[in-house]
Amino acid sequence: MTKQIIWTAALLLTGSAVLAQPKVIAHRGYWNTPGSAENSLASFTKADAIGVFGSEIDVWLTGDDQLIVNHDKVYKGTKVNMEKAPLAKITAVELPNGETIPTLDTYLKLVASKPDTRLILEMKSLSDYNREDLSARKIVEALRSYDLLDRTDFIAFSLNACFAFKKLLPEGRIFYLNGDLSPKSIKKLGLTGIDYSVKVLRRHPEWVKAAHDAGLEVNVWTVDSEEDMRYFIDLGVDYITTNRPEELQALLKK
Ligand code: MG
Repeated sequence: MTKQIIWTAALLLTGSAVLAQPKVIAHRGYWNTPGSAENSLASFTKADAIGVFGSEIDVWLTGDDQLIVNHDKVYKGTKVNMEKAPLAKITAVELPNGETIPTLDTYLKLVASKPDTRLILEMKSLSDYNREDLSARKIVEALRSYDLLDRTDFIAFSLNACFAFKKLLPEGRIFYLNGDLSPKSIKKLGLTGIDYSVKVLRRHPEWVKAAHDAGLEVNVWTVDSEEDMRYFIDLGVDYITTNRPEELQALLKK
């Protein structure tokens, strides 16, 4: 009997130790390093090279209904609007590392060649739901053509986008970003989990346990200070999205 109790306690301790280690996701790729830039091809290669769990990208549907990888709606220092401009105009914009804004197709070709790093794909909210539905369909089609559906997690601020992915991929891994719904609501909607900001989860730390109790997963963005890193490691989130992946990896090794 005593032996059994000790064995059970040991198993529980091992289990919780394993669960407590969050996985590292490079926010907009690993861009915060020489030769890289946000959402560039180099940022995925560099994320892969340091062995992160996943690398995040932002995807827009262009004015002529093509998919490109970039964060801001209007590229800084230009008047190029990702949702309104045609593909040719967008892909002519130069990034700080000398690359140009990549198409999703070019990006996925690279991702397919690096099987150890998961793709965390954010679909940007668009001006209307029909365009969001079209964007989701085209994203899924592109991922399928590179056989990447099993290696991709979907994230979105738009609930409509989350539903669009859910409809296309009932078993897909879909996380909601907007921070305004409790884990209970997310569970009811049939999504995989929450991917909320530092600000939201600092205000609702109880949502981490509530999510886990409901069988959901928890990601948090964007965790860049050591204080926040320690806070969310201790809180037991499943994933941490950061602009400083190497610092987080070093902290997790301690
Ligand atoms: Mg993003």
